[in-house]
Amino acid sequence: METERRHAAHALGKLFAQVTTSHLEPLFSQEGIKAALIQIMALAQDMVKNIDDAQTCAGVECGPGCSYCCYTQVKLTPAEALFAFSWIAREFSDQDQILLWKRVDSNRRLTEGRSLSARVKIKESTPCIFLKDNKCSIYPVRPFICRSWSSYSRRACKDAFLTGNHTSEIETSTSSNFVFSLARQSIQKVCLNHGLEFLPLELPKAMDCCHTTAVPFNRWLQGGHVFEKIVPHP
Ligand code: SF4
Repeated sequence: METERRHAAHALGKLFAQVTTSHLEPLFSQEGIKAALIQIMALAQDMVKNIDDAQTCAGVECGPGCSYCCYTQVKLTPAEALFAFSWIAREFSDQDQILLWKRVDSNRRLTEGRSLSARVKIKESTPCIFLKDNKCSIYPVRPFICRSWSSYSRRACKDAFLTGNHTSEIETSTSSNFVFSLARQSIQKVCLNHGLEFLPLELPKAMDCCHTTAVPFNRWLQGGHVFEKIVPHP
């Protein structure tokens, strides 16, 4: 079983790397990164769906209106953050952008420097900055980690949320975690190879870094420090 898993990881990693390379060579550009992310996210999504459809076990119960997992900490890579940031600049109204940056600020003030258990206690005041009317407001460009979350029991998610037990056992689709983490790694590897920041960081901080940097996508592509800088936060 372990050998099969290793072989599958190798084959999938190779496929994702081919897709990434096809969009980024010969020119490593904003458009190339966005196109690679769009294709890899769609490919991974299709794979997970096909695997889940082929399995006979109970189905995933995630769906619109259920957002218990959107109260946990989300980490994303710089490439995903810049992809989402570009999308927001195009799709959000000016007013929605103002409200978003207020939520980012409030979330960071409440969460930074706190332990996971301390954060769990204030989770109801710190939903994801993109959760709006119980739905994801950046759904088409949500990070890999959000795509990888799944649950076979909405009730189990609700119980974990209400009790605050962040170590609760929630039965999830292993294929989903497996495929999306390989997809994310393929983007990280190519960024690392080009000398770009690639380490995942917390979503509100990542968005703040994008917002407080002039032309962040260009700067990052030129090897600048967009995400490693210390953002002053009194
Ligand atoms: S980005 Fe969207 S899916 Fe991910 S935690 Fe935030 S609201 Fe939920």
